[in-house]
Amino acid sequence: MNASNENTALHVDVEKTKAYYSALREEDLCDCEGCRYYRANVRQAFPKIADYLDSLGMDIAKPFHVSYVELEKENKMLYNACCYVAFGECGLDFSQTFDGAVLTRAGACPDSGVEEPHIELEIIELEMPMKEMEAQD
Ligand SMILES: [Zn+2]
Repeated sequence: MNASNENTALHVDVEKTKAYYSALREEDLCDCEGCRYYRANVRQAFPKIADYLDSLGMDIAKPFHVSYVELEKENKMLYNACCYVAFGECGLDFSQTFDGAVLTRAGACPDSGVEEPHIELEIIELEMPMKEMEAQD
């Protein structure tokens, strides 16, 4: 049974991961509207997954890649994949669901630019209502 447990296990080096996230600055992250909206709202919208990532030393507001669709008619943002770096080991079948959003081992994220050995996780199928975008100019 151990082998199959390892397939679904996630072991994160919390201190190392925390150091990575605290070194990431706002200006290192994508500046597009969908990414900024995600970073500004995701923690409040999905507190359980935010807390879980915090416990791993990760910051939900600092994904290295976000892909999304704006569903204008439904007034929603659909985030298909929000990709995160962590340090540690992740089983091939790791997956956990929080508040309807799924955290899983990343399948198809672009290059994170991190050269050290690391793992990549993604939050998939996350929807957020569109609040009015704050005036940006
Ligand atoms: Zn972006």
